[in-house]
Amino acid sequence: MAARMLTETDGTTSYGTLAGLSILFIGYGNQGRAQALNLRDTFSAHPLSPPPSIRIANRTDSYHDTALADGFFTSTNFESEVYGADVVFLLVPDQVQPSLFIKHVAPNLRPGATVVVASGYNLYYAWLQIPEGVSAVMLAPRMIGAGVRSRYQSGTGFPCFVSVETDAGGAWEVVTALAGAVGALRGFGAVVCSARDETLMDLFAEQALWPSIIVAFREAYSTLKALGCSDEALVHELWLSKEPAEVFEKMAEDGFIEQLKLHSTVSQYGQLGTSLTWMEEAAVTPVPAMREFFKDVAQRQILDGEFADEFYKLNNEGKLEGLLEELYAKSAQSELGRGERRVRERLGMKVKTE
Ligand code: NDP
Repeated sequence: MAARMLTETDGTTSYGTLAGLSILFIGYGNQGRAQALNLRDTFSAHPLSPPPSIRIANRTDSYHDTALADGFFTSTNFESEVYGADVVFLLVPDQVQPSLFIKHVAPNLRPGATVVVASGYNLYYAWLQIPEGVSAVMLAPRMIGAGVRSRYQSGTGFPCFVSVETDAGGAWEVVTALAGAVGALRGFGAVVCSARDETLMDLFAEQALWPSIIVAFREAYSTLKALGCSDEALVHELWLSKEPAEVFEKMAEDGFIEQLKLHSTVSQYGQLGTSLTWMEEAAVTPVPAMREFFKDVAQRQILDGEFADEFYKLNNEGKLEGLLEELYAKSAQSELGRGERRVRERLGMKVKTE
């Protein structure tokens, strides 16, 4: 079944919904800054009467200073800001949202207000309990804040998922107008996709697809190293050349399979032939195991909430930072990690991102 798409025409015809509204951004980080700036620029280009107001709520620190320097009214009083807002963008990290929402947001939301999130995570796992009479919508860009801003400035769109999770009245008009105003409906438009599906796809990519790719690279590295290839050659061959990045770029531009035509005939035959053999003769390849692993991650780990519960607990116990450090240290000790470090030091390249 084809998904519903929202287009720029949907957005502009809904702009009137935002006239006179007080729009609050809680958080002025990656997404908060990009979306607030885009919104303000749109309201300058398409003045509404009465004009909407955009305000920022943030603790006193560098994000707060940036919001002030960008010319926004910026407050540290979350409660009174929420109380006065018609639309509340909740753009702080996912692990911070539940406690902040319970303490500062939920008790102060006006009836008829709309809460906007940029990820389905906390709505799907019901860690944001939306009060009666309040709408909850998702406007989830599929890219980092810098891209959301630069694509807006260059007049191109950015991929985005949009949904209404609870509708206290008129939520579709509000989210469509907001999506149009932040620039998410330009280009191909935004895909209507639920918080549940966004969470499933997002976490699946992070916990199944990319780990499979990391493991494949590590195993490829060790296999080829054991067959005599040097660290220098392997690092260059596998990723330093940026060939994988170019392949992904071309997948988006030309098509997932079609881009293969840019490769040599030897490469095309090798890639197509081997992948089809894997799929068709599944019994002698890793495909069945991978399929089972993928299903298990999707159902037990993600949809049933096992990962989210564990992450929530670790975050509440203050253990996340230490654990992440341990995981980085362990990964750095892999054959690939050690080999890359030596090569980067030899080439005078930055070794560790602080
Ligand atoms: P950031 O990490 O950039 O958020 C930083 C902001 O959150 C700052 O304003 C910071 O201010 C505030 N913040 C952090 N901790 C707290 C706290 N304990 N209490 C109050 N405010 C806090 O977040 P993102 O923009 O990356 O993410 C926001 C949402 O957007 C998330 O739901 C995320 O999943 C989603 N998203 C993110 C994308 C990305 O590329 N980053 C892409 C698409 C969606 P201060 O520290 O001063 O309090």
